[in-house]
Amino acid sequence: MAKAPQNIHSKEVIEKIKASRAVRETVDQLGKSVIQGDTNALARAITLIESSHEGDSKQAEELLRMVLPFSGKSVRVGISGVPGAGKSTFIEAFGMHLIRQGKKVAVLAVDPSSEAGKGSILGDKTRMNSLASSELAFIRPSPSSGALGGVARKTREAIFLCEAAGFEYILVETVGVGQSETAVHSMVDFFLLIAIAGAGDELQGIKRGIMEMADLVVVNKSDGDNLPRAKAARQDIQRALHFFPELPSGWIPEAVLASSLESSGMEEIQDVISRFTQHVQTNGYFAEHRKEQSRWWLKETIQHLLNELFFNQEEVKDKLVLTEQQVISQQVSVTEAARQLIQLFRTK
Ligand code: GDP
Repeated sequence: MAKAPQNIHSKEVIEKIKASRAVRETVDQLGKSVIQGDTNALARAITLIESSHEGDSKQAEELLRMVLPFSGKSVRVGISGVPGAGKSTFIEAFGMHLIRQGKKVAVLAVDPSSEAGKGSILGDKTRMNSLASSELAFIRPSPSSGALGGVARKTREAIFLCEAAGFEYILVETVGVGQSETAVHSMVDFFLLIAIAGAGDELQGIKRGIMEMADLVVVNKSDGDNLPRAKAARQDIQRALHFFPELPSGWIPEAVLASSLESSGMEEIQDVISRFTQHVQTNGYFAEHRKEQSRWWLKETIQHLLNELFFNQEEVKDKLVLTEQQVISQQVSVTEAARQLIQLFRTK
């Protein structure tokens, strides 16, 4: 009888197998802890999906596969408004309002301009003191700077992790200056815009496109001397909302008064969100919208990954310099050059 082969793997290979098993156990453990609602594990899990280290992406994928079946059960609320409108103050007030009812609230952000840990929105947790110290809250600043698509994708995955950890409301703050609203809109169920009262022209500073996305406009700082102006602003905004095209959800957007500083208007805002949720659950838009978002993100991610594969391929990299020169000196058209490069990419 033939002798069983001994030590078919070198020491190195055995070490690698052991290491990968250890990693597997860690990801498993991490996923389980997230699902059990451990917020420290949740923070580590988000760090893993945000990591750009080679090798981490496989683990991140594994982790997401584990938690996805446990996700989806929250109300995802996007919050936008120009700087100074009171987003942080509002999130603190509204978050605490929800927490007083025993709800678990996660706060995330999309700010592509932020640098790691520096001055980003939510980077400064001191503006959300009570929330930051509440056991029922989880606050996470924006993934550090990068292309908007990447930052937004990671935030969307962080939403799933937070949901798996049992968070019932996910508030996603964004900068209020344009494109990031569209990205946030593509990951939330409800879009809330914070407007400034008493700025003269009430619609000033709010881009039309952003206003059109809003399911609710909160006229913040409706307090003290500002109250009459805030009331007038609310009426102006409510009127303007009627002129916008109908939302695909069939929901008619509303405008309400609030003071984040005095914590007034919070109950009404929660009520609007509940009525909205009921409305879109009844007419089927809630589920359809989430499906549409998944389709959108699949396409967006394929484009991103193809882009990365293409520009990192050695043959393409080598040829690109020459092709650029040919295009600049008008020897070939841009379209022809692009097709040739893609042909090269596909044959390799
Ligand atoms: P953000 O840049 O949109 O996050 O705005 P902040 O939350 O940092 O608020 C900007 C300024 O507005 C701060 O000085 C807040 O204290 C103030 N502020 C926020 N909400 C209110 C409010 O409801 N009433 C009043 N009077 N001031 C507010």
